[in-house]
Amino acid sequence: MRAMAYDPDNIFAKILRGEASAHVVLDEEHCLAFMDLMPQAPGHTLVIPREPVENLFDLSDAGLSHLIVATKRVAHAVRAAFNPPGMMIAQLNGADAGQTVFHIHFHVIPRKGGVAMPLHARTVADAAELADNAARIRAQLDAG
Ligand code: AMP
Repeated sequence: MRAMAYDPDNIFAKILRGEASAHVVLDEEHCLAFMDLMPQAPGHTLVIPREPVENLFDLSDAGLSHLIVATKRVAHAVRAAFNPPGMMIAQLNGADAGQTVFHIHFHVIPRKGGVAMPLHARTVADAAELADNAARIRAQLDAG
């Protein structure tokens, strides 16, 4: 994989700085989680570290620990909110693997057998629907 310098103007860096909007579900010291703008299923959520890192190979062990624990918390909340029979946790490294935003993130994607998953990063979801889904997930996180 080609090593690239981290681009501080990538869209997730802008979301972290508050320069771009997102439907945030979790906002904590080390991580942020928000709805995927072009979801592959209702409830598709992204979890990112605040650490400015492009991919898994560059992330510190401490950063990865925080990130996977936050991802598990978010996955629990998404499961409670949407009750899917399956849950995919995905993480892509490099354009050749399909990575399109070069700030590391875990995808949390509800799955159901027989329901095809659309291609990722294609269709922008309705803003009201994303806001509603975020509220459902936040309610589960608040409930503990
Ligand atoms: P990846 O292809 O693994 O890098 O995933 C990047 C994800 O970010 C895709 O699923 C996109 O739909 C999503 N995405 C792109 N721009 C935004 C944005 N502004 N807010 C939320 N999600 C986004």
